[in-house]
Amino acid sequence: MPQSAYIHIPFCKSKCFYCAFMSVANTDYIPAYLESLKKEIKSYYKNEPLKTLYFGGGTPSLLKSEHISEIIQMFNFETMPEITVEVNPESAHPDFLSGIFSAGANRLSIGVQSFDEKILKSIGRIHTPKQAKDTVVNAFSAGFSNVSTDFIYGLPFQTQDKFLDDLAAAIETGVQHISLYGLKIEEGTPFYKNPPVNIADEDLQADMYSAAVNLLCENGFEHYEISNFAKNKKYSGHNMNYWNCEEYYGFGAAAHGYLNGARYANFASISKYINSPLEKEFLKNLTPKDMENEAIFLGLRRGTGINFIDFKNRYKTDFLEKYSVILEKYKDFFVITDTNCAFTTEGFLVSNSILADFIEL
Ligand code: SF4
Repeated sequence: MPQSAYIHIPFCKSKCFYCAFMSVANTDYIPAYLESLKKEIKSYYKNEPLKTLYFGGGTPSLLKSEHISEIIQMFNFETMPEITVEVNPESAHPDFLSGIFSAGANRLSIGVQSFDEKILKSIGRIHTPKQAKDTVVNAFSAGFSNVSTDFIYGLPFQTQDKFLDDLAAAIETGVQHISLYGLKIEEGTPFYKNPPVNIADEDLQADMYSAAVNLLCENGFEHYEISNFAKNKKYSGHNMNYWNCEEYYGFGAAAHGYLNGARYANFASISKYINSPLEKEFLKNLTPKDMENEAIFLGLRRGTGINFIDFKNRYKTDFLEKYSVILEKYKDFFVITDTNCAFTTEGFLVSNSILADFIEL
């Protein structure tokens, strides 16, 4: 039974040069989009009490807080649900933050990316470092006690020291959660057409990641997932649900969901979605082997990795026995205890190639 729902808000003021997410810099679509979104939710949602609801984007802070409130009210919740809204500093006004907090949102994810003005400009971000810091302060003032900030490493003009200074500044703000992503030049982005200069190579990115892990862990953050760090166990419950291979709804253009053993995706084109919000662009029933692969792929993203008993109960497979050759081959990249198998920090850095071996087996 799904206990999570993701809502995609595919609007941005302008497109960042590295961004491969589905969003458009045209807010004229918002009224029609919201109508279709509500239609989709009404049609598919079966009133299950949710543990988590997540508004992602795009830029959900381009909506009015009343819009967010109206959507939240369409769902039933368990006691103490986690309701996250992603915001961008240039549009997360104090009134918006108070409005969504009053509507029930209790977790904020702020797209900071860097606290350096020159770097922000070079990647097409339209906020200033001050706006980013003010957003954290305003979030706490609005009542949020669970605030996350996103950062990217490997950006143009970003040295390792600069990156670590940014993280130190984030720690200083008192946020409880930090997400880190390495810059990737993805097809279809402005950076793909006009590659940036002065970006970190693979080795420097790896050094930046390792140094960030050390800094955050020294400052009381737990490295609970390959890209995510939390203080006081303030994990992203919504994302934990993905990594635990649990079911969830995905509502909105380009949203993905997982229901009744099938993965699906909605239309990634805004106009197609607005016209046909109930149709799916993609639907695939997972085989038992697909499910097992996903459990490895997603489970090994977590700091605790894979629990052997859970794995056996769900997939009827003895993890240590079936994958013994791979675990031996890459033994320096794993920590294996009596109950769990997890990547080391170095293992996370080379996880893509190791995971490919698991999937082939
Ligand atoms: S604000 Fe986020 S979703 Fe929008 S273009 Fe920038 S990175 Fe992409």
